[in-house]
Amino acid sequence: MIRYCAVIGHPVKHSASPAMQNAGFAALGLNWRYLAFDVAPSQLAAAISGAKTMRFIGLNLTVPHKLASVSLVDALDASAQTCAAVNTIRFEARDATGAWQPLSRFEEMPVSNIRTLGFNTDSDAIARALRDELGLNLAGTRVLLLGAGGAGRTAALRLAKEGVAELWLVNRTAERADALADEIRRIFPKVTARTGYPTGDVNLVINATSLGLKADDPIPLDADRFPLGRTKAVFDMVYRPAETRLLAAARSAGCRIANGLGMLLYQGAAALELWAGRGAPIDSMRRALEAEVYGT
Ligand code: NAP
Repeated sequence: MIRYCAVIGHPVKHSASPAMQNAGFAALGLNWRYLAFDVAPSQLAAAISGAKTMRFIGLNLTVPHKLASVSLVDALDASAQTCAAVNTIRFEARDATGAWQPLSRFEEMPVSNIRTLGFNTDSDAIARALRDELGLNLAGTRVLLLGAGGAGRTAALRLAKEGVAELWLVNRTAERADALADEIRRIFPKVTARTGYPTGDVNLVINATSLGLKADDPIPLDADRFPLGRTKAVFDMVYRPAETRLLAAARSAGCRIANGLGMLLYQGAAALELWAGRGAPIDSMRRALEAEVYGT
C-alpha cells in the first residue's frame, strides 16, 4: 500500500521538497510518495485534518503556515515549543501497550484516535549547516543576524542556545528586531542581544531576510555601516540563486560563504527520520535537491 507525506504552503509551486523527499523515500526502499499542496491560511486546519483522515504519515509546513500550525496540532515536541513554530507534523496512533507510535510503524492502518505531533527541524538544520558547511563552533562568537521574521527568529533562538556571546539584530521593521532582542535577553540572559550594526568585527553574518531571491534585490545590509571585510563568514538562507549578491560580495571580501541549500536539506532529512524512524539517505537527498534547484 502506498503511504503519503506532503508539504503545505501558499504558494508552494517552487518547493524543492518533493524531489528531495521522494529521492529519500526511494533510497530507503519505501513505497511512499511526497506531494505538494497549495493551501490558503483559512484552509490550513481543514488540510491538516484531511491528511489525518487519509492516514498520511506526515506533513511539512512552509511559509506562511509555520506559526499558525502551533495551535492546530494535538501535541508539540520540545523543538516546536522552543521556536513556537511547526515545520513538521507526524501522525501517530497508540500501539498495543497504549504508547503513541508513528503511523509508519503500523502494518494495518489504525482507524481511529490518530494524533498530530508538531516538531521544528529548522533550528537543528541551521546549527548543522553552520557547523558542517562553515566549520563554525558558535559558542562565544559574535554574530550579525539580518531579518527578524520566522526564519530569523528561529535562527536567533538557536544561536543563543548555542551560546553565542553577542547577537546583533537588524531588520527592516525595527520593532520586530527590538521584540526579538527582548525575547533573547529574557530567555538567555548570558547572551548580549542588541539591535543595529555591530561595532568591531564579527565571526558570522546571517541573512534571514527574503532579500536575494530576486536578481535585482539589494544586498540586505548597509555596507557603509558594516563592510563585509569585518566578518569571517556569511551564511545566506536564500539558496536560489546559488550565489546571491550578498554571497558574491562576501566571497570577494575573502569570507567563507554558504547558501541555504544545506539548511533545506538538513531540515528535510530530520523530518524523514522522524516519520520513518530510520537514518535519512543524505547523499541521495542532496543530489536530488541540487538537480531540482540548480539543474546539475
Ligand atoms: P518571513 O517570516 O516572511 O520574514 C521575512 C523577513 O525578510 C523579515 O525580516 C522581513 O522584514 C524581511 N524582508 C522582506 N522584504 C524585505 C525588504 N524588501 N527589505 C528588507 N527586508 C525585507 O519569512 P521567513 O520564513 O523568515 O523567510 C526569510 C528568508 O529565509 C526567505 O528568503 C526564505 O526563503 C528563507 N528561508 C530559507 C530556509 C532554508 O531552508 N534555506 C528556511 C526558511 C526560510 P520585515 O520584518 O520588515 O517585514
